[in-house]
Amino acid sequence: MHELSIARNILELVDATCHEQGYSGVETVRVNVGKASGIMTDALVFAFNCAKDETLSVNATLEIHEIPVGGRCRECNSDFISQETIVLNCPRCGGAAFEITTGHELEIFELEVDG
Ligand SMILES: [Zn+2]
Repeated sequence: MHELSIARNILELVDATCHEQGYSGVETVRVNVGKASGIMTDALVFAFNCAKDETLSVNATLEIHEIPVGGRCRECNSDFISQETIVLNCPRCGGAAFEITTGHELEIFELEVDG
């Protein structure tokens, strides 16, 4: 299960950060997850809650912020944001010469700690 290994990675990273900064526990772990990352957010929360025992995140809540898929089109020179998980054509001009610039993220962006 893909999401379980991701959850474990997040928990390890949080533990490492806490040890480094001298925090004793975490209340909230906020992560950015891109819509095109292929990660199922429900499954990730479930996996996080299953795997958090015996880590410093044992009492923590995982908060997921979904990042929409966005790109830059080389044909009409515009930036776009899509509500779809997969973008096949530029939503403005229908062109196929574009690059995806957001939507593949998986990153921890904030920890709320106990102190
Ligand atoms: Zn375009």
